[in-house]
Amino acid sequence: MINSQNIVARSATTLPAPQARDNVVEVAKLIDVSKCIGCKACQVACMEWNDLRDDVGECHGVYDNPMDLTAESWTVMRFSEVETEVVGGNDVSAEKQLSWLIRKDGCMHCAEPGCLEACPAPGAIVQYANGIVDFDSNNCIGCGYCITGCPFNIPRISEKDSKSYKCTLCSDRVNVGLEPACVKACPTNCIEFGSKQDMLARAEKRVNDLKERGYEQAGIYDPAGVGGTHVMYVLHHHDEPGLYHGLPKDPRISPVVGAWKGITKPIMSAILGITAFAGFFHYITKGPKEEPTDEEVFGEGDDHHRDSREEEHRP
Ligand code: SF4
Ligand code: SF4
Repeated sequence: MINSQNIVARSATTLPAPQARDNVVEVAKLIDVSKCIGCKACQVACMEWNDLRDDVGECHGVYDNPMDLTAESWTVMRFSEVETEVVGGNDVSAEKQLSWLIRKDGCMHCAEPGCLEACPAPGAIVQYANGIVDFDSNNCIGCGYCITGCPFNIPRISEKDSKSYKCTLCSDRVNVGLEPACVKACPTNCIEFGSKQDMLARAEKRVNDLKERGYEQAGIYDPAGVGGTHVMYVLHHHDEPGLYHGLPKDPRISPVVGAWKGITKPIMSAILGITAFAGFFHYITKGPKEEPTDEEVFGEGDDHHRDSREEEHRP
């Protein structure tokens, strides 16, 4: 639910944001992938709460369904079978073990959102003081620039209305003090929600626990390249986030977006400024443009051409 006084950033807008609520606490969702059993209760709860109805998918021989995020599936479970170093267990002779890594995919609610940076439609993407990045479909023009700008490949354009959609972090629920629907539905408590500070403290505790149990590379995924995120993961293989269905190791806003906003825009503004100044300079040095007299056009004494032109204009 859009509440303009909670907005700290709007796409394609340079006006300063209201600061009356700069005391708002930043929130975060913490997903501990080491506790996830892949039941998809969160996926169902998301569709239920947000009133989304995606197509019934087909079996592709894997548990992923749907196979990708869509405009009607804002979160999907990603299943990856990978070989990892042996941790615990009895078979210490083996060099590798087969691991099934499950990750809940969806918008990361970046502190520096590439989608918002790239969007050319004023107010189509907003960021609230609590860190949630939300799409205002009324202002979306369906250009898809948000997809180019997102380092996590999250937004999807709907074929029905050509608008862009993604997880809202249940901003409507959070606004009234409720936790997101996926958090509420998770049976293993693998998804938690609270202030970012509290979630970081919990994540740290869990990482220490995992390290004690042999997962030496366990860590918190809160990538600095996008200023940190308001959806964080606890990963047992934090040194290789790519194992979790291609989670980027060091996500950053694409240089193309940086070029569009950082170089092209100031250059275009400068060209505009120079053109306006040149026009003004011409005006004060040469004066306003004046219509030439008939004498200047036809020369002194050229009555024949002057008369024929007057005849042309006579009704
Ligand atoms: S994950 Fe992508 S869509 Fe979500 S806030 Fe970050 S840039 Fe935007
Ligand atoms: S926070 Fe809400 S919108 Fe986002 S994945 Fe969870 S249920 Fe869906």
